[in-house]
Amino acid sequence: MKAVVVNPNSKANVEVIEKELRPLQPGEALVDIEFCGVCHTDLHVAAGDFGNVEGRTLGHEGIGVVSKVADDVTSLKIGDRVSVAWMFEACGRCEYCITGRETYCREVKNAGYSADGGMAEQCIVTADYAVKVPEGLDPAQASSITCAGVTTYKAIKVADVKAGEWVAIYGCGGLGNLAIQYAKHVFNAKVIAIDINDDKLSLAKEIGADMTINPSTAGAADKIIQEQLGGAHAAVVTAVSKVAFNSAVDAVRACGKVVAVGLPSETMDLSIPRLVLDGIEVIGSLVGTRKDLEEAFQFGAEGKVVPVVQTRCLHEVQDIFEEMEQGKIQGRMVIDFKQQ
Ligand SMILES: [Zn+2]
Ligand SMILES: [Zn+2]
Repeated sequence: MKAVVVNPNSKANVEVIEKELRPLQPGEALVDIEFCGVCHTDLHVAAGDFGNVEGRTLGHEGIGVVSKVADDVTSLKIGDRVSVAWMFEACGRCEYCITGRETYCREVKNAGYSADGGMAEQCIVTADYAVKVPEGLDPAQASSITCAGVTTYKAIKVADVKAGEWVAIYGCGGLGNLAIQYAKHVFNAKVIAIDINDDKLSLAKEIGADMTINPSTAGAADKIIQEQLGGAHAAVVTAVSKVAFNSAVDAVRACGKVVAVGLPSETMDLSIPRLVLDGIEVIGSLVGTRKDLEEAFQFGAEGKVVPVVQTRCLHEVQDIFEEMEQGKIQGRMVIDFKQQ
């Protein structure tokens, strides 16, 4: 079967090779991949930013159909459509796993990084950790929910916004776009979309943002939000920028929550008096659990959230990685494994 693997000596650090899969072990299932999205995290893994994983099959936005299960597997059957997500497997026994926080398991395995992922014609999954894709959800769109969707859905959950409350979404790209949709159409919040790109803001408006701010032309978003609304109840930062994180802390009202999703390799400024006197919470949020993904999928199946995806062929994978590196890509690129 064909697989996209990390190769530092190849164009865009990736290549398509023929790979032989090992036989299934107890608890595992074989998935024939239909679609797999390409994510910025894949670029980081391929570039060796998280360590050298040469030869690893990439991909944590895989969707496919189960074609074989080990004898002891009861959670999946042949024909089920399932996902291959970043949270590939956890220990199932530690304090994080047994308290609904499995993404923070210290022994977690991540698809396309510490386990072979879904950017291949076939993928071996741990059956109990492969989340089923509901009927009625387009599998190419599901691939985007597997990563960006569940990540932003979980972040809004962590932000704990109630119906009618204001949530500021910093960054309206691949993640922010879905954050707006979940906030608006699932949590019934009022959404302030913040981005320095007007095209992204007009898309944000189309998909439901109640207010948009371009700080590069309108001035500091936090000031505008404080002046016009008395502060947001929460902020979710998907922008990969320290400026956005600092602004988010200043944009929320007393007892507001700032949820960090974007991952710039910087430190943020945090005024201790602001934190203490106004009871501000700053919280990191990492992807989502199996339960979160199940819910995020269901809202997609109900049409409340519609990811914007573009399908491409497997042989274009190096070009896709290069285009993403150069920032040429707007929507989500999804490799269609049926299209050769
Ligand atoms: Zn991803
Ligand atoms: Zn664990």
